[in-house]
Amino acid sequence: MQTIDRARLARQLELEQQRFIDTHPKSRELFQRAQKSLLAGVPMSWMVKWAGSFPVFVTSGKGAHFTDVDGQDYLDLCLGDTGAMTGHAPDAVLETITERLRQGVTFMLPTVDAVWVGEELARRFGLPCWQVCLTATDANRFALRIARALTRRPKVLVFNYCYHGTVDETFATLHDGVVGPRSGNLGPQVNPAETTKVIEFNDIPALEAALAPGDVAAVLAEPAMTNIGIVHPEPGYHDALRAITRRTGTLLIIDETHTICTGPGGYTQAFGLQPDLFVIGKPIGSGIPTAVYGMSEEVADRARTQTPLEDIDTNGIGGTLAGNALALAAMRVTLEKVLTPENFERMIPLAERFEQGVEEVIEDFDLPWIVKRLGCRAEYWFRPTPPRNGGEAAAAVDFELDQYMHLYALNRGILMTPFHNMALVSPYTSESDIDRHTAVFREAVRSLAG
Ligand code: PMP
Repeated sequence: MQTIDRARLARQLELEQQRFIDTHPKSRELFQRAQKSLLAGVPMSWMVKWAGSFPVFVTSGKGAHFTDVDGQDYLDLCLGDTGAMTGHAPDAVLETITERLRQGVTFMLPTVDAVWVGEELARRFGLPCWQVCLTATDANRFALRIARALTRRPKVLVFNYCYHGTVDETFATLHDGVVGPRSGNLGPQVNPAETTKVIEFNDIPALEAALAPGDVAAVLAEPAMTNIGIVHPEPGYHDALRAITRRTGTLLIIDETHTICTGPGGYTQAFGLQPDLFVIGKPIGSGIPTAVYGMSEEVADRARTQTPLEDIDTNGIGGTLAGNALALAAMRVTLEKVLTPENFERMIPLAERFEQGVEEVIEDFDLPWIVKRLGCRAEYWFRPTPPRNGGEAAAAVDFELDQYMHLYALNRGILMTPFHNMALVSPYTSESDIDRHTAVFREAVRSLAG
């Protein structure tokens, strides 16, 4: 098998960095100007984590493409890291959202759309009772609060190298088997070792052992991990997870914010999962900030009686803008017209095409890499076999190689997701878009092979 020549990689990366600087003068100028008014020159710190030495500044996006201030067009395989999985400015939602803007955005009162959305979420995901908030982070935070209130247990359990938003309890990883703050965790409220148990995904004995003492309120899980590459559950893992959580009185929260890529009802509908609580954000409103969390009848019955009316605004759940009229209108039209079975039937074969294209290149160059797919999401990873868990996946991270592959693609008009090598297909992505990525990926690999 081929190994990457590190000296060559460093040289090639330098060439691509220079090419990026030379071809993006306006973005560079804006970035320099923004240093004075924005921390690190961007409105949100992650926006510096792109492979070029500054981010491209966007002018507009439509479907699977966007343009930048230097007049370049990009195929967007990042799609706002799933927030724009619906495609940018999808025609199907534009009219509805524009009309809603004219009719008022936020009232702190429900609209008719709210009822439609609640009923549709129940139909799709199988849980009867729903609440709306602004982000998937919030939805996870609120689901954890409910779980703690109902079980009266202090801890939560997450999987090593999971990601569920900026939720304090989830920023923990294993360090030689011991729970500690995840690398980069800035100013944690308390040491997450006090709030959180961390185990590896797909490890049933570790799950048994962690839940046996009966001090865990909830397991918070993506049904397949997607934030450290794609890590699929092994056969029987979800059955075991459900059986053990039930037996130990632990609630199961399934976070489908990314795994909605599996199909219109997410992984939950596709594989018949039965969570107690369920979370989804990002694309559910075509990028209009909104998220939802759902609960079983039993959880809803108990949750209803937790807070007296007098204290309902101080229970630590909700938010002034949560459930606003615009968000509900966006969710309704997104569910009705974009995240539809017909669109998934188009998107998933395109992700398969991406997977096959990348796989062929990996084989042709005899590289020790893999590509994994979940529905309309695909991701390549620099290790020869699929990882079983987050720890194994994290051990294969190669930041320099990531930077190179991303920058090579970006310099040729293709945007990949910055934190990993993920490509997402929208209803607007075409076969020729996918084939263009395959061709560029092949050229990137060839440039390293010499
Ligand atoms: N859950 C999962 C599975 C996610 O991947 C993310 C974000 N990547 C979140 C929750 C948080 O989403 P947001 O940043 O929109 O709150």
